[in-house]
Amino acid sequence: MIIILFGPPGAGKGTQADNLVKKFGLIQLSTGDMLREAIEKGTQLGIEAKAVMDRGELVSDQIIIGMIKEKLKEKSGSKGFIFDGFPRNIEQAKALDVLLDNLNKKLDKVIEISVNDEILIDRIKNRAKEMKDARSDDNADVLVKRLKVYHQNTEKIIPHYSKQGKLVKVDGMNSINEVGQEIEKNLKIET
Ligand code: AMP
Repeated sequence: MIIILFGPPGAGKGTQADNLVKKFGLIQLSTGDMLREAIEKGTQLGIEAKAVMDRGELVSDQIIIGMIKEKLKEKSGSKGFIFDGFPRNIEQAKALDVLLDNLNKKLDKVIEISVNDEILIDRIKNRAKEMKDARSDDNADVLVKRLKVYHQNTEKIIPHYSKQGKLVKVDGMNSINEVGQEIEKNLKIET
């Protein structure tokens, strides 16, 4: 099974992806996590990406698509994948179609976790207060920028997937458990 978890920053994609990984043995491919790993390792890519991420902007498609291509190759024998935080614009969505096609794989579903902007801003403010080691791009100012980028670029991929009949929308304002159950129902996974 191959799915995309889609939604604005702070919608809970990572939490839901973790659950699906634990329950069904899918591999999570989070481009945000890959970039943070590169930052931690201090690679050239990490240094360049950090400045972009701290501004709440998108890292270049070339870097992102290259990272995903490599991971898909490395994990080609896996049961399935969850894309988390990728694709984030139409170029990336089209590149993913080609990558999967070349691997003879098929995208099953795109799960959109929808949450109001006001709720997201509240969540991120609380997260920044609670966590001593909050991410450097996890503050209200950068979040507002990231939300803007989401509405301007990332949301534009919705029609690409609804045309393919693959898009399902779940209410991300419910509890973590409820959102998880809704996702599983849409994936028709028996629990
Ligand atoms: P995330 O952990 O998915 O919220 O991503 C954190 C930051 O990493 C984003 O604000 C972007 O700067 C960068 N990033 C992550 N995934 C992508 C992507 N698919 N395309 C471009 N930039 C990305």
